[in-house]
Amino acid sequence: MRKPLIPVSEAIARIAEAMRVMPKEEVSLSDASGRILADDAIAILTNPPQDQSAMDGYAARGEDITDLPCVLHLKGESAAGHPWPDPIAPGTCVRISTGANIPDGADRIVILENTRSDHSSEQIEILEAPSQDQFIRRKGQDFHSGDVLIKNGTRLNGRQMGLLAAAGHHRMMVRRKPVVAILSTGSELVEPGTNPSAAQIISSNSIMIAEMVAAMGATAMPLPPIPDNENALLDAIAGLTHVDLLVMTGGASVGKHDLVAGMMKDHDGLDFWRIAMRPGKPMIFGHIAIGSAPSEAATTPLLGLPGNPVSSGVCTLIFVRAAIRAMLGLSPVPVTRKAILTTDLPANDQREEYMRGMIQYDAATGLDHFTPLLSQDSGKMKDFALAEALMIRPAHATALGGGSIVDIIYLNPGD
Ligand code: AMP
Ligand code: MG
Repeated sequence: MRKPLIPVSEAIARIAEAMRVMPKEEVSLSDASGRILADDAIAILTNPPQDQSAMDGYAARGEDITDLPCVLHLKGESAAGHPWPDPIAPGTCVRISTGANIPDGADRIVILENTRSDHSSEQIEILEAPSQDQFIRRKGQDFHSGDVLIKNGTRLNGRQMGLLAAAGHHRMMVRRKPVVAILSTGSELVEPGTNPSAAQIISSNSIMIAEMVAAMGATAMPLPPIPDNENALLDAIAGLTHVDLLVMTGGASVGKHDLVAGMMKDHDGLDFWRIAMRPGKPMIFGHIAIGSAPSEAATTPLLGLPGNPVSSGVCTLIFVRAAIRAMLGLSPVPVTRKAILTTDLPANDQREEYMRGMIQYDAATGLDHFTPLLSQDSGKMKDFALAEALMIRPAHATALGGGSIVDIIYLNPGD
């Protein structure tokens, strides 16, 4: 009897468990966008570095401005980057700008709007007094040196890079990006940019998977497609170096020309094969030896995806993602949201289904509505390319009516 199909969640867990977490490397902060912090980021500096004014106005002593209106003598200016060096003497004030240090002795910022003066005059009439902390940014009110600013394992974005720069960082420890080699197999495949004969098709999987894995935080290494020929396959694998994960497409099924499955079955590097999933059932996970040295051990993880572009795309979003995230020290589990199903669906069989569909925001409930595409034919690349979400229909799910709450994965998270 055939081995039972592996549940998707088990396959994700087994793949993640088998991955090696990438070592740390130091990069310039300006190159750290999208990289995963490998240590907690600790503030080197304090912000603000001193008590500073939050507004343009005058720095004064509270005890001088209790009886209003009153007049203070203007002694000079504290500008951002050019602080006033002297303490504020009784009955005096200095002009102050936003971000300028508050001179010693001053404990009030009177905003410009609450004063009156002639242009040339050194007499400033104070019309309204602020409370003690109004318009003042206290030293360290944002963060102090030594504070943990961003946790280890965070994927850095522009806001966080700005914070790290403000805190005195210009180089960061991040996880090295895993290198993902992508190898399509199929004698019918030609590279994008070539004119296929009637018996050929353009290999579109590599460009799709390369883009997806780059967005997940890996370095994509797309390779030219190879024909369904064992020597070509072994040569391509022998030519690889510095690969953290090999993703192959095509040849994963049980046909006579399905080389990847054949190679892995004959070999003790096979971890598992065939997933209870639609699309994506024939996927293979294992380890192989890469490079030409005979001593090479079978230590490079390999995901053998079905060649069908929709299947290989869905498997990339679920399993290649799980592998990459595990290598980056992140959770491999897909991020799902709730949505309201708009149509009826029949009961499901033993394969967890990833249905392509469209989403529409419903303002009344604050939830997205999910409408599956009429055809779930995994040969339809155009539908997959234009779909907005994948709905996960669990194995053995009972029939669902329109209005049911379902789990979806957004396909365009950046939109
Ligand atoms: P296979 O998994 O090798 O049986 O391939 C399944 C289907 O996907 C066949 O119709 C192949 O022609 C097609 N296919 C395989 N590899 C690719 C690829 N790299 N790009 C586009 N289509 C492919
Ligand atoms: Mg094939």
